[in-house]
Amino acid sequence: MSEIQLAVTAEIILRLFFDLTPPGGEWQSLEGNRYISGDYILQLEVHKNEGKQVISFSLKRKDGETFIINSYGFSCDVPIAEVHRVYPLSTWDAQGLPWWIEHATASTRGIPCVMLLRRDGTNKFTIGFADQVYETKISGGLRFRDEGSYHLEGKKLFLDSTKLKTTEHKDAFYVSTAPQNWFDVAKDYASFVDSFIGYKPNPIPDWAYEPVYCSWYPYEDKINEKIIWENARIAKEVGIGTFLIDAGWNTEKDGEWSWIDGRYGDYIPCESKFPDFKGLIKKMQTELGLKVEVWFAPFWLGSQSETYKKGLGAARCKVREGDKLVDNINLCPQNPQTLKRMEEIIRYFFQELGVDGIWVDFVDSLPWECGADHQHIFQTIGEGASACLEKIYRTAVSIRPDAVVEYRIFHGNLNNKRYLNVLETTDTPHNYDDNRRFGVYVRSFAKGVAVKTDPTMWSPKCPPWEVAKHCATMIMGGVPAFSLDFPSLPQSHIKIISAYISFYKKHRKELLQGEFRPLTALPSFPVNLIEGEESFLYVGQSSVPSFELSSIVKELFVFNCSEKEELMLPIKGISRFKKAMIYNEYLEQIEEIGLNQEEKPLSIKVPPGGMLHLSG
Ligand SMILES: [Zn+2]
Repeated sequence: MSEIQLAVTAEIILRLFFDLTPPGGEWQSLEGNRYISGDYILQLEVHKNEGKQVISFSLKRKDGETFIINSYGFSCDVPIAEVHRVYPLSTWDAQGLPWWIEHATASTRGIPCVMLLRRDGTNKFTIGFADQVYETKISGGLRFRDEGSYHLEGKKLFLDSTKLKTTEHKDAFYVSTAPQNWFDVAKDYASFVDSFIGYKPNPIPDWAYEPVYCSWYPYEDKINEKIIWENARIAKEVGIGTFLIDAGWNTEKDGEWSWIDGRYGDYIPCESKFPDFKGLIKKMQTELGLKVEVWFAPFWLGSQSETYKKGLGAARCKVREGDKLVDNINLCPQNPQTLKRMEEIIRYFFQELGVDGIWVDFVDSLPWECGADHQHIFQTIGEGASACLEKIYRTAVSIRPDAVVEYRIFHGNLNNKRYLNVLETTDTPHNYDDNRRFGVYVRSFAKGVAVKTDPTMWSPKCPPWEVAKHCATMIMGGVPAFSLDFPSLPQSHIKIISAYISFYKKHRKELLQGEFRPLTALPSFPVNLIEGEESFLYVGQSSVPSFELSSIVKELFVFNCSEKEELMLPIKGISRFKKAMIYNEYLEQIEEIGLNQEEKPLSIKVPPGGMLHLSG
């Protein structure tokens, strides 16, 4: 047989294939889950547990000689009955049942796992690879004939140019048909990967949990010393502890930070904007007590930069376009000069500029392959990028043991979790619904790191209740972060930010350590709970599904982020609460009501953007 067939359930057959050089030919099955093909030996191990299977394999030759893996992977057909949506962990934006899917992942982006779900969010079929480094494509789509199915294929090393020379290769497939909530299955898949790659969480310094200010949205790259200092002063006043100086501190012209022919990549502060950048950082740290992070895109190098001209240009990637090889803005992670450059940049940031942390961006912009005529010491982009990111993290913490290294969702994946300690969503300006949605995805695989949402931004013309909803979304999403033109905000907005930051600081432990779960499977995840002795319920739509509160819950804070003035809360276990305190959008108490609540839905008036506090 050209493929190895394994019955996952009575209805689903998993077909495994291996494309090898030299070729082995047909597979023969031996006893004990052992297969041979020519002189290749494939040892499978299958562990089954309550609807979940982990299929691990080791592939080598009888004589231990090297061989080349051109690609390997699986295909299967899942009966379509009840399948209602697809949540590929790597594309993030699929909201329904696409006619076809095709998403590619590597160490630099995405997660090689796909989930087929029922309408209520329970799992029908989930499959994912253990290996997160090598380039993977998961594709498939609806098939209508007969009873209908969703066809899935997963292929490692899917590009013709990516091949792996080795003497032994080990990987594993995670397959689940357990009818559990998707969020629990996703977390379980993440634990499987964590254990396969030997993930050990990095230390998270206490300051990583401080509320964050980011300069990006209100100014983009048009920042200067005055703008940063004015915002830093107000940030301190409202209770923010960390200030991120985003793009623009080391480039002169608008947009130059992203130009392939620009000057990005030298990391020399731009004198016309920042006459004394180092002094500014020091002043923010000493006079305001802020921690300071800088933004950078580690692999980007513009061809007008001094670094490029000094010879590092030869280390940039070249990518194929038709029959031509064209320049790419990224330093090639397979090239040894890039690894060295990563260390230089980080040393400069921490030792010379004196920053406390770094915000690592655009790793997901690395190409899939490099065709440049320069030395490659790693076999694939994925391998090389992993080594470079590890170098960044290790160098940072070797200089500053309490450094924060932060990524965003696309490249802050299960592979790169090893090289960071703070993980956030991605750009969602003005849109707290999308920010919240990404935040739920992040939490499904972020065990071991601090999570936060994208720094929220809103218009100075927003009404107070809308500002309060932004703030409530922030504190339910992890470490709250803001990206606003503070000097131009109305005083009412500043008052709301201060109130929410105070609330976050008072309840930080419970907010961050409570058990988070989405209460609906609607794609925007509008109703979410953080459960502990103090619990927090986020209500983003008027309809709250019925759910049971754990017996440990003593107090419940409910954020009314819906448009309705009356909240209907069908919570089992609600009779434990004897008192209801109602707060406005400034988190000022406006009413207190005694409750004599029976076990029936509680209907109570809370202003939109306001909060309800239920206690014993
Ligand atoms: Zn290269």
